[in-house]
Amino acid sequence: MKTLTYIGQRQIAQGTIELAFHKPEDFVFAAGQNINLKVPALKYEDSKGPRRTFTIASSPEEQVIHIATRISESGYKRTLLEIETGAEFEYLGPQGNFIYDAALENAIYMAGGIGITPFRSMLGHALRIGTKGRITLLYGNARPETSAYHELFLEYEKRAPFLHYIPTMTELPAGDEWRGERRWLSADLAFERAPGAEDATFFLCGPPKMVEALTGQLREKGVAAERIRSESLWGY
Ligand SMILES: Cc1cc2nc3c(=O)[nH]c(=O)nc-3n(C[C@H](O)[C@H](O)[C@H](O)COP(=O)(O)OP(=O)(O)OC[C@H]3O[C@@H](n4cnc5c(N)ncnc54)[C@H](O)[C@@H]3O)c2cc1C
Repeated sequence: MKTLTYIGQRQIAQGTIELAFHKPEDFVFAAGQNINLKVPALKYEDSKGPRRTFTIASSPEEQVIHIATRISESGYKRTLLEIETGAEFEYLGPQGNFIYDAALENAIYMAGGIGITPFRSMLGHALRIGTKGRITLLYGNARPETSAYHELFLEYEKRAPFLHYIPTMTELPAGDEWRGERRWLSADLAFERAPGAEDATFFLCGPPKMVEALTGQLREKGVAAERIRSESLWGY
């Protein structure tokens, strides 16, 4: 039985927390992979049981393992909010093929909401090992306050000449001072804003409906299936 020891949590956006775990010495993963985490004991009833899958949000070089999640009313999430330091979580994995690819000359990452987690890991990794080409991150959210890691990506963009960061806020009140993009994520938006979209490889992550819609739109624009990689966060 493999376990992770819980360190603590912090709020990283409105309604979103990041949990930290000690990284075992033999814990090896590729940026973008996920783990299945079992809470030690459910404190509140949950018809789906004590396990959920989460992408590892930290990069492989970091000394701790982070996951980030939207808080909800489910028994699992309410239990997470009350977990005590030192608790042991059984886990399965790391697993998954939605991983960083350093060989790509042009990658476009498209994340909806908490679908940002694999890209947090991949970009942290890219910053350390570098990349051959360029990466554009299109990140859709309701508002800046609900956007996990928004400030971090602004910082990454300053440090990494290969990174172009385009956040889009879709639920701002009229008259808000936000000067950036406000449209929903779409293939049109990607082709308009991301350099070289015609030849890029797309990475899509978010709720299943979003991933499905974007995949359809990209295919309609003539993007080959081999140039679309995706991860659906089932459960949202
Ligand atoms: C490969 C993969 C990677 C993933 N990575 C991430 C990740 O990085 N971060 C992340 O957050 N999620 C991730 N997910 C999704 C995650 O596994 C969960 O499905 C998701 O977080 C929803 O879990 P939940 O417990 O909040 O809601 P669920 O229990 O699945 O319920 C769905 C909805 O019902 C509501 N609900 C449930 N029970 C109650 C109740 N008793 N009363 C009122 N309302 C209720 C909840 O508010 C929730 O919105 C990933 C999934 C996959 C497959």
